[in-house]
Amino acid sequence: MNRDWIHDQINQCLVPKIVKEGLFLPVEGNLYEIVVKKNCSKIKFHENNQIFIPENISNIGKEVKTFLLEYCKSIMIPIISKKSNLIQKKIRKICFKDTKSRWGSCSSTGSIMLNWRLIMVPSSVYTYVIIHELAHLVHMNHGPLFWKLVQELSPNYSKDKDWLKKNSQEIRRYIF
Ligand SMILES: [Zn+2]
Repeated sequence: MNRDWIHDQINQCLVPKIVKEGLFLPVEGNLYEIVVKKNCSKIKFHENNQIFIPENISNIGKEVKTFLLEYCKSIMIPIISKKSNLIQKKIRKICFKDTKSRWGSCSSTGSIMLNWRLIMVPSSVYTYVIIHELAHLVHMNHGPLFWKLVQELSPNYSKDKDWLKKNSQEIRRYIF
């Protein structure tokens, strides 16, 4: 391992990836190729890990973002309601944003915010983030009781927490 190699690796990490035809985009931890397709009426997942885009779309990034956001909601809202039942807490509001610095947040009044980019990470990792935020409805801090509850709801959480820390920058590289 030499200095140039390390330098290349660092640079590579910071290069943005523009979402366009031919790009491989992670969804739930698997890479999907973005393919522009004739006779395709709307954007959709296709077998062989592809996302098909209709030919007439002018802004692929924007289209893929809307598609991923809808997919994210359809996957995560049921998980939030299932896990919030386990801790017997009511959720008043769920919103999905793309915040620069955090993956999720939670208010004492029962509002949950999740970064929709989490749909790119493996399901165990986004489930950990959901559990983390919900656990704040019980403990509004990061004390031992908070982590005990997270552990009860997500026994392997430390592996998911580490994954997110390591891959955070990579997930934020994609420009829609
Ligand atoms: Zn927290």
